[in-house]
Amino acid sequence: MAQSDRACWCGNQDLSEFSDLYRRCARCQTLVTRITPAQDDPHIHNDDQDFYGKEYWFKHQVQDLGFLNINDRARSDLSERCAHWMRTLLKYKLPPGKALELGCAHGGFVAMLKRAGFDASGLELSPWVVDFAKKTFDIPMLLGPLEDQSIAPASLDVIALMDVLEHLPDPAGTMGKALELLKDDGILLIQTPCYQEGRTHEQMVRENDLFLEQFKANEHLNLFSQTSARELFDRLGARHIAFEPPMFGYDMFILVSRRPLKLHETAQIEHALSATPDGRMIQALLDGDNRLRTLRDQHNQTEADRAKRLEVIGQLNQQVQQIDADRSQRLSAMQTLQQQLQQLQEQSRQEIASAVAQRELTATEAAKRLKIIEQQAGQIAQIEMDRANRLSIIETLSAEVQQFQEAARQRLQVIEQQQQEMTQLRQETTQLRQETSQLRQELQSLTASHQKLLNRPAVRALRRMGLA
Ligand SMILES: [Zn+2]
Repeated sequence: MAQSDRACWCGNQDLSEFSDLYRRCARCQTLVTRITPAQDDPHIHNDDQDFYGKEYWFKHQVQDLGFLNINDRARSDLSERCAHWMRTLLKYKLPPGKALELGCAHGGFVAMLKRAGFDASGLELSPWVVDFAKKTFDIPMLLGPLEDQSIAPASLDVIALMDVLEHLPDPAGTMGKALELLKDDGILLIQTPCYQEGRTHEQMVRENDLFLEQFKANEHLNLFSQTSARELFDRLGARHIAFEPPMFGYDMFILVSRRPLKLHETAQIEHALSATPDGRMIQALLDGDNRLRTLRDQHNQTEADRAKRLEVIGQLNQQVQQIDADRSQRLSAMQTLQQQLQQLQEQSRQEIASAVAQRELTATEAAKRLKIIEQQAGQIAQIEMDRANRLSIIETLSAEVQQFQEAARQRLQVIEQQQQEMTQLRQETTQLRQETSQLRQELQSLTASHQKLLNRPAVRALRRMGLA
């Protein structure tokens, strides 16, 4: 593949390196191919040889890109992406109106637009595809690039480009032409890959980003970001842009208009579709799609819930494993303990046996000792009895001693009295002796006096007379 020094659609020629296939416009954030496009001329001259000819829809799409062939896509797209596009378009633009789809392939979406009530036609570059779409869905088809068409300016209400913008060699030129053909309040409905600004190629490779699949440098000439898409239409005077949820995460899905975008209520959409039998069929298709989306949301919630529960189960499993490991550790510890216990039991059994044997010996010994003890007890009892007897004797004796003592005390008192009396008697005796001695002296003196008296003559005379 030949290298190209293609400038950015915005005019910037000074692009920075992004990967071996793309360069990045730092001014508008578009990734620009650095490879010469597989087909820069939008005209198909030979359907069997040109890149976007018949082979593109069979061999290339199926073998190189892994898509279903155009025949199978004509069936599967209706209920999938066409339903999503239709539901989104109806929010902003109701039938009737004139619609054109650029790069409509099999023409399934054009057929749906027709049945919804639009005056719709498709456009393709390959005569073979144009023919295929006409035969498959019985729709009006235009052949060749938009710039070649003789469509009255400001005559269209909707121009749809699904996975087309990134293929355009001159996106600003072609979109400018499309806006010319739209009425003032006409709408561009666009699906195109969305480069997440700031992400490097290395990051995408490292994280296996789904956007890597969009790097088909010979087909996807410009990969827009939200900023560069806004910039593109801003420059073309269509400043009103709405970013709707894309069908696929790596895309952007936008509605563009020169006039402010107006949203329609569900009731208004239903009313518009119910105007014709075909419109009712489209409503039924959208109803089915809504149910499918509801179910998908529920399924996603359930899946998220399931994942959470699975995580919890995983954690619980881990805990169970830990518990199991812990349990087997404890079991092993228990077995060790049991072994130790058995050893201990065996040991103590032996000890008990020897203790019992010893005790039997001891019992004989004890019986002997008991006998001795009994004998000693008998002796002690006798001794006790003897002691009691003696005690009683002692008590009796001590009572007697007390009596003796009392008697002795009394005698002592008597003796003391007698001693006192003796002392008194001695004193009295002494006194009496003194008195006796006095009396003897007196007696002697009296006797002497008496003698003297007797010796007196008168007394002698009386005595003789017997009177004295
Ligand atoms: Zn640029």
